[in-house]
Amino acid sequence: MSSPITTADWLDFEDRWLAPYAMPSRASRGRRHSEPDHHFRTLYQRDRERIVHCTAFRRMTGKTQVLVATVNDHHRTRLTHTLEVTQLARTVARRLRLNEDLAEAIALAHDIGHPPFGHAGEEALNDCLKPHGGFDHNLFGLRRVDELEERYPRFPGLNLSFEVREAFVQHSGRTDALECAEFRDVGRPLLEAQIADVVDSIAYDTHDTDDALGLGFITLSELRGVEFWARATERVHSHTPGLSDGPLRVAVVRELLAWQVTDLLEETANRLACANIRSVADVRSADGPLVGFTPEVRRMKAGLERFLHERVYKHHRVLRMTASGRRILQALFVEYVRSPELLPEKHLRRWTGADTLIGPPPPGWVTTARTPLSCLERVVGDYLAGMTDRFAQLEYRRLFLPSTEL
Ligand code: MG
Repeated sequence: MSSPITTADWLDFEDRWLAPYAMPSRASRGRRHSEPDHHFRTLYQRDRERIVHCTAFRRMTGKTQVLVATVNDHHRTRLTHTLEVTQLARTVARRLRLNEDLAEAIALAHDIGHPPFGHAGEEALNDCLKPHGGFDHNLFGLRRVDELEERYPRFPGLNLSFEVREAFVQHSGRTDALECAEFRDVGRPLLEAQIADVVDSIAYDTHDTDDALGLGFITLSELRGVEFWARATERVHSHTPGLSDGPLRVAVVRELLAWQVTDLLEETANRLACANIRSVADVRSADGPLVGFTPEVRRMKAGLERFLHERVYKHHRVLRMTASGRRILQALFVEYVRSPELLPEKHLRRWTGADTLIGPPPPGWVTTARTPLSCLERVVGDYLAGMTDRFAQLEYRRLFLPSTEL
């Protein structure tokens, strides 16, 4: 009978299995706060599980992807989008013999810093925080996992590995921000992070089209004018002729996914070979991104994205929802800055002026381990960014329409 696997077995397995340009767990730069190794999980496996069990991960179930989470019950939310991205990232990582655990952890965390109400929510917070450095969901994601999650008594945050934390910063492209200093000289993103980044677009281009069809924002006949959709439909007809509209829609969505993933795998393998990439150091110093699509698929994706931009993201129902989300966040921001005592105590404790309002923190209060902030606006921004759509709507009603039955 075989014995249960240990961490040492995993690390040996990685040595045998991973491609030379994959990031092995044993080469990690480690965690900010040192911890003993686990006896049967590697660093990145633990990262993955810490992310899945944290509050911000659960809250993605109530956060807008494109449509406000409360509008219907079968379109994508931020959480189901994340699960689709993660599944794609694992498939691609495994095929290329990259570190699947690392790719999975990065994909699971990639949208964890998104505020409520999608991009409209991000724009609203960015406007509110302009005089204080603005708002960026990637950097908020890093702050979320480094500072704001409360799960361990010895340190704030989730204490994730350097490589998962690095992915937030690489994705933001913000090398100017203070929290990016430790990542400034690492070079290009690891292949596992490049994958999470690129499959994100496979997921949203495909599922936004699917959701928009499902909600009646667009029709199949309109999509026939979009080259990528039309050619994927031809492919479906060639192997499964005679489908009616319902099954055809599902089959074409599946075809689009398979096409993009296959193209990505072939093109990436090609780039790795052409650039003679033989190590993580080669990835770090490569001339350009190594994970990507062929020019043909890139062109067709751009056409589909233009269509989605015009017909879905600017649809009057989407615009109405995003305008309402923007108003809610702006109003809440102004109100909390004017009356900070309305903030929950654990958020208020991050602000250095809090003692004058609520007294000094009790001994052992976990927030004392966090970076204190002299800027109340940033504390308020972080609180609002963590909310779900529904909670922000309820807070708005509670503060501005107090007679409303909840
Ligand atoms: Mg995403």
